[in-house]
Amino acid sequence: MIAPRKIEPDTEKRELRVLWTDGHRSAIPFKALRDHCPCARCRTARESGRAPLQMVLTTKLLGWKRVGNYALHFAWGDSHSEGIFAFDFLRGLCPCGTCTPFRDDI
Ligand SMILES: [Zn+2]
Ligand SMILES: [Zn+2]
Repeated sequence: MIAPRKIEPDTEKRELRVLWTDGHRSAIPFKALRDHCPCARCRTARESGRAPLQMVLTTKLLGWKRVGNYALHFAWGDSHSEGIFAFDFLRGLCPCGTCTPFRDDI
């Protein structure tokens, strides 16, 4: 399974730098993480068509930790910390040209 080998949040650029076990590097904007937060609250909000709440604190990353050996957990400045990002889901958010040659939705 692909997993992050190294995780470095860049709080200035507001993106999460991930070096994966297969050598791939991702720079995933904090905003993309919040826009795709898989927690029930955010999913419900997205499905109901409500625009996700965006303010400065929304994309302020306070901390992160590993959950078991399959996911990452993030704590955000607006005290939202429900989202559990499985590694393959996180990799799916990589906005680089290799990962998303036909996508422009993130
Ligand atoms: Zn959420
Ligand atoms: Zn990529």
